[in-house]
Amino acid sequence: MPDIKSLTREELEIQFKEWDEPVYRVTQLLEWLYIRRVTSWDAMSNLPKPLREKLRADFSLRTLELVRKQGSRDTTQKFLWKLNDGSFIESVLIPANPALYGEASDRHTLCISTQVGCAYGCKFCASGLEGWKRNLAPNEIVEQILAVERWHVAQPKSESLEPAENRIVNNIVVMGMGEPLANYDNLLKALKILNAPWGGGIGARKITISTSGLVPQIRKLAEEPLQFRLAISLHGATDDVRNKIMPVNKKYPLKELAAACDYYQQKKGRMIALEYILISGVNDSVEQAKPLAVLAKKLFAKVNLIPYNKVEGLLWERPPEDVCENFLNALEKQKTIATLRREKGHDIDAACGQLRLKTEKELAATR
Ligand code: SF4
Repeated sequence: MPDIKSLTREELEIQFKEWDEPVYRVTQLLEWLYIRRVTSWDAMSNLPKPLREKLRADFSLRTLELVRKQGSRDTTQKFLWKLNDGSFIESVLIPANPALYGEASDRHTLCISTQVGCAYGCKFCASGLEGWKRNLAPNEIVEQILAVERWHVAQPKSESLEPAENRIVNNIVVMGMGEPLANYDNLLKALKILNAPWGGGIGARKITISTSGLVPQIRKLAEEPLQFRLAISLHGATDDVRNKIMPVNKKYPLKELAAACDYYQQKKGRMIALEYILISGVNDSVEQAKPLAVLAKKLFAKVNLIPYNKVEGLLWERPPEDVCENFLNALEKQKTIATLRREKGHDIDAACGQLRLKTEKELAATR
């Protein structure tokens, strides 16, 4: 049975027409789903009961179950959600940090997942450790934002939050568990719902899609009418380094990736972000900063440096602080726009996928 939050307004209008229901009922339904974010059909009190029954019979209205939350209100907060089939996914709420993805006015960014697990097997990543399980449906992607906002509204208010504030997520980065562009159709549908004025109402320019480098999908994304921002999980500026840590590079080497990014940049006229996790002894030498600066310049891209966060069970280490600072300086000397993530509060988010693995292991131990 399809979930109601996997449907666009146009699809709902077709369905309501078939049922001989007036169009304004679609508007009412959408308000219940995306403004009031209700979790049951019965709560939709201005919809006639027979209509609610028809909706109940043909569509599910699924929500995410919050299983665990890490972090405090004014720092990064990680949410572990349980899906309907018992799988776990993570979303991470990051307080305003204009240097990363947003603008000065952005209060919170939500990093969302698109798959359960990941097939791409980047060597440093917890999400890929147990392989790929399945793609998320559009409603499971959309619901991550709604569930965080529901949680937010339910919190006791403090002085740091405006009392009437109903929304908390005003920036989305699609950079959580999974390779977003490997779940292209569901992702695009979810983002259209989140972007639409009748849905999430989040501007396309406030949505960043990150990819490990799926070249054909980057080119496809360039043809989409919506102006999403693009981030590349680069982590190596030469094929040698990328081949060592990212198997996707063997299929789509840097030359092809750079050409696809260039195409995206030409089509959209937007600055691309290059994500670069600094891993000790792998990609953190100042010699590596040179090809990175050349690539960033060529692609009109900015570089986000993120010191590695240790993943349990993996050998990789975070470089010392001075090594990270030297790397940043080397980029800046070459006139590259670059930021280095220094905030301690963000530590839990870089190791995305860990909370899920930890919880799955704990559950297995109790069975
Ligand atoms: S870094 Fe991204 S693409 Fe690579 S294994 Fe992790 S989730 Fe998958």
